[in-house]
Amino acid sequence: MSPKAAAMAAKTLKKEAGDRVRKRLLAKRDELIQDLAKNRQVSEETIDESAQDMADRATSAYTKEFAYSLSESDRKILLLIEEALGRLDAGSYGTCIHCSQVVQEKRIEAVPWARHCLDCQELQDKGLL
Ligand SMILES: [Zn+2]
Repeated sequence: MSPKAAAMAAKTLKKEAGDRVRKRLLAKRDELIQDLAKNRQVSEETIDESAQDMADRATSAYTKEFAYSLSESDRKILLLIEEALGRLDAGSYGTCIHCSQVVQEKRIEAVPWARHCLDCQELQDKGLL
């Protein structure tokens, strides 16, 4: 294979990988948006119930809190997905936003919206980043 053909092949592969990641990100985004809508509904129903039945108030409050906390983390992932889609468009997807190293393929597979490589993620988890 000539160097030019090899470069072309590499480019094609990269585009395919990018398209695959984009599909996964968009699918996850749709899933989260649906979850958020569902959670909002649950919260509203719970509020109605607690007004009707004072005895269940504690349980309802707990359920409500759970629904809110769930959508809070979902919201964060949604933001990360939007960012990842932006990086895909900008051509910077797949590199760590902190150290600019290529993010490990396994990590992309597991968390397609990851911003950091494994090393930097570890630092961030420890609060060192
Ligand atoms: Zn890094």
